[in-house]
Amino acid sequence: MAQSTMEASVEKFVYDFEEGNRDLKDLLGGKGANLAEMTNLGLPVPPGFTITTDACREFLKTGRPPEGMDPQVGEHLAALEAKMGRRLGDQHDPLLVSVRSGAKFSMPGMMETVLNVGLTDRSVDGLAAQAGGDERFAWDSYRRLIQMFGKTVCDVPGEEFEHALDDAKRAAKTKDDLGLDAAALKALVRTYKELFREHTGRDFPQDPREQLDLAVSAVFRSWNADRAVLYRRQERIPTDLGTAVNVVAMVFGNLGADSGTGVAFTRDPATGEPGVYGDYLANAQGEDVVAGIRNTIPLQELAGKDQKSYDELLKIMAKLEEHYRDLCDIEFTIERGKLWMLQTRVGKRTAAAAFVIATQLVDEGVIDLDEALRRVNGAQLAQLMFPTFDLSQEPEQLTRGVGASPGAAVGKAVFDAKHAVAMAKEGEQVILVRRETNPDDLPGMIAAQGILTSRGGKTSHAAVVARGMGKTCVCGADDLDVNLHKGQFTVDGHVVSEGDVISVDGTTGRVYLGEVPVQPSPVVQYFEGTLDAEADPLVSAVHRILTHADGGRRLRVRTNADTGEDAARARRFGAQGIGLCRTEHMFLGERRSLVERLILARTAEDRDAALEELLPLQRADFVELFREMRDLPVTVRLIDPPLHEFLPPLEDLAVKVAVAEERGQDPGHDKDLLDAVRRMHEENPMLGLRGVRLGLVIPGLFAMQVRAIVEAAAQVDGAHPEIMVPLVGAVQELETIRAEAEKIIGEHDVDVKIGTMIEVPRAALTAGDIAQAADFFSFGTNDLTQMGWGFSRDDVEGAFFWRYLELGIFGVSPFESIDRDGVGRLVRIAVDEGRAARPELHFGVCGEHGGDPESVHFFHEVGLDYVSCSPFRVPVARLEAGRAAVAEQSTSDTR
Ligand code: PEP
Ligand code: MG
Repeated sequence: MAQSTMEASVEKFVYDFEEGNRDLKDLLGGKGANLAEMTNLGLPVPPGFTITTDACREFLKTGRPPEGMDPQVGEHLAALEAKMGRRLGDQHDPLLVSVRSGAKFSMPGMMETVLNVGLTDRSVDGLAAQAGGDERFAWDSYRRLIQMFGKTVCDVPGEEFEHALDDAKRAAKTKDDLGLDAAALKALVRTYKELFREHTGRDFPQDPREQLDLAVSAVFRSWNADRAVLYRRQERIPTDLGTAVNVVAMVFGNLGADSGTGVAFTRDPATGEPGVYGDYLANAQGEDVVAGIRNTIPLQELAGKDQKSYDELLKIMAKLEEHYRDLCDIEFTIERGKLWMLQTRVGKRTAAAAFVIATQLVDEGVIDLDEALRRVNGAQLAQLMFPTFDLSQEPEQLTRGVGASPGAAVGKAVFDAKHAVAMAKEGEQVILVRRETNPDDLPGMIAAQGILTSRGGKTSHAAVVARGMGKTCVCGADDLDVNLHKGQFTVDGHVVSEGDVISVDGTTGRVYLGEVPVQPSPVVQYFEGTLDAEADPLVSAVHRILTHADGGRRLRVRTNADTGEDAARARRFGAQGIGLCRTEHMFLGERRSLVERLILARTAEDRDAALEELLPLQRADFVELFREMRDLPVTVRLIDPPLHEFLPPLEDLAVKVAVAEERGQDPGHDKDLLDAVRRMHEENPMLGLRGVRLGLVIPGLFAMQVRAIVEAAAQVDGAHPEIMVPLVGAVQELETIRAEAEKIIGEHDVDVKIGTMIEVPRAALTAGDIAQAADFFSFGTNDLTQMGWGFSRDDVEGAFFWRYLELGIFGVSPFESIDRDGVGRLVRIAVDEGRAARPELHFGVCGEHGGDPESVHFFHEVGLDYVSCSPFRVPVARLEAGRAAVAEQSTSDTR
């Protein structure tokens, strides 16, 4: 017996617009959910129904619609026919429907749409009668159906239809589709049907329900079309969501001068200014606007053509803004003076507009500041902190690619990584231009101001590596014809040769000829204190929202800094202390030779003498930091990296010594150095003699640092030093260092906390024990990721992460955003066990993740006390910490 769809056991795959609402985006997609919302608001939406994303996911798994879907489509179609008083494919008065994709996240133009479904040889005359005897319109609609259906549903090459259309226009001596009369279009339909048969081996389907079913399947399949897959990868949209399908009664904007179609925004998406923004095209359908066949007019001019529809549209726009409490964008059609709403959604906007609109809505009493905080994010704030190009002189735009890593870079085009390095050494600013990059290009990428490629998207090698380095990058500029041999690229008739200056905007993806002036970010000027908060609407919006975030956040925000300059800047940017001072950076430059002496010391006296000389220098470093961070905590990490990093590379030394010996000269000091480098050589230095291991092996090294910290603290009022031991894996390591440090601290009247990094998986797993010897834990998520995944942190991102991203093994590098399930689990275990063992223990994070928006939410959730990040990330972390607190608030409100 056939199962009734009313039985509870059958999943519901089809929803009438009356049955949905805007919260059902997961199930009905964005378009379907919002059409339902508008229907229920009583707005004029053409009737229809939505087939769910569940049905799509089933279809993609099995290649067939799920059981129960077909009869449900039948029932909803019957209801739609009843509502419209017309039947699909009816000979006298046919119902036509559009079949449109609509995923949870907007993927503009990436998937398929079929219009005019339901037209057949029988119903085409009925459509003409419906349109007041307009045969031309009916046959034009029919030829559009065969063309769209043939191309998207049955893979007939689109250009075949285009050629036939061109032939018809030529025969009719017209350049415009509108020049084809009914007879010509009737003949064209015949040709189209022949093309269809030729390519598919069957006749164009005359059963309207079969047309509908095939179109629905084609829309499902289009989820996996190449361009959709690529778009999702670039936009980090999950691959397994599937699309919903909307079946909507057709309304026609191409029924004459009293019809048309348009798009509108309820306020300016670039600035947030309230008003009427949009475009209108008379006597046209939506795809004509997209195809840019004719020029649109500003929406305001609709008032002069059809005042009634215009007034109604404005009323609807106001109602939508009030209802969604946000900027909405809208698509509409007017059919013979009757307005129909085809789509709405909360509109996309620039980063600047997001902040400005959010505070405007607060001022208008539409939302509160918590909601304003929810509507902006750290990625937008980070974007606003990059310098931008001053485009007032209207520079010549060469092309536009994918904005893969933000920033504004100017330099001479160079087509080879080695040239880039050589020119940069000469003091030139260069932009590395390649078709695509590979690991061999790395030195050139480092040397360049920016990178430009003609292939690849946001997850290509160039993009991933550039983002990792914070370097401006535009990729996938596919209009560029890059000729590496000639050292030039051509685009749109321009030839740019090696040495010509170009300007590359990694935020917008635009590439300009010549040098475009760069202007600093007003938001950064405000943080720096050189621009007043009220000086500019954007700055004022950032100030208000960030102040609100500060008021509500539970996480404190510290900075990673090891110079006074960085510390001072971070403090201006709102840092509440230093969470990581990497002391190894203090041993570079002129002090390298002292470290060399320490490493080469043959006796305890030699070693102590070197340490003795280092002590005052270190003390001065700490005095500076404590002064800049007066009254705030400063976490100083004892030296971490392998000591041979302070010596010259083995190969260079070996060559130098060999050459000297060959010439019969005495290699002297170089020979000692070479011996030391050989002695200290490690196959896996990242897993070798570094961190706490150094402190245990080299007598006096950590003691010297502790002494410098304590003596500096004694000199500075308001110093709050915290000593942090790196790379601890066992409590005994920490206990040994702690005992040594406490002896020194005991000689002075200062209060110093001693804690450890948790960056070795074993430390996380034995956190309960380690807590016994620690006043605080700071998660070193860089090493924890490296050792948790077994990924060498200096190599993998450039070497093969692009492939992992391509395969979707992860959507974003785990070095950029915390891997919640794996590395995050280690963090959770350590927090829970550490706190259980020692409730007063403090927790922070000082790996790169401390400034990553998504990760900040995770650290809030696991209950850390602070995040620590680079100075420029401090405002981003403040904002996201506030957002995390607000998000927690709203989940507990709805519980
Ligand atoms: C870490 O490992 O996360 C960390 C902060 O230390 P470093 O990056 O210096 O190894
Ligand atoms: Mg580390």
